[in-house]
Amino acid sequence: MANVEVKKEGYLSIGKTEAVEISVDTFLCKGCGICLELCPRTVFEWSKELSEKGVHYPLPVNAEKCVKCKLCELLCPDFAIAVKW
Ligand code: SF4
Ligand code: SF4
Repeated sequence: MANVEVKKEGYLSIGKTEAVEISVDTFLCKGCGICLELCPRTVFEWSKELSEKGVHYPLPVNAEKCVKCKLCELLCPDFAIAVKW
């Protein structure tokens, strides 16, 4: 299994492998849960801690499962997610 590095860096919640980097801008994220519901590979889990906005935010804990479909990036209503490779 690919090594996943998960971290919170400033306003970014990041899940990174050698193949892909998924980042959630926790300043923009309103915690609606669309990305958790719609990611076909259950890449995201809720954070235990609250963001600067006072909501739980998605952590890309299973980034190694990402198939780079970009659904999360396209469907996030607040443009908070970026998937890069
Ligand atoms: S879809 Fe966007 S706003 Fe909603 S929880 Fe995910 S990152 Fe946050
Ligand atoms: S790009 Fe697709 S598989 Fe990867 S985290 Fe987003 S919705 Fe999930």
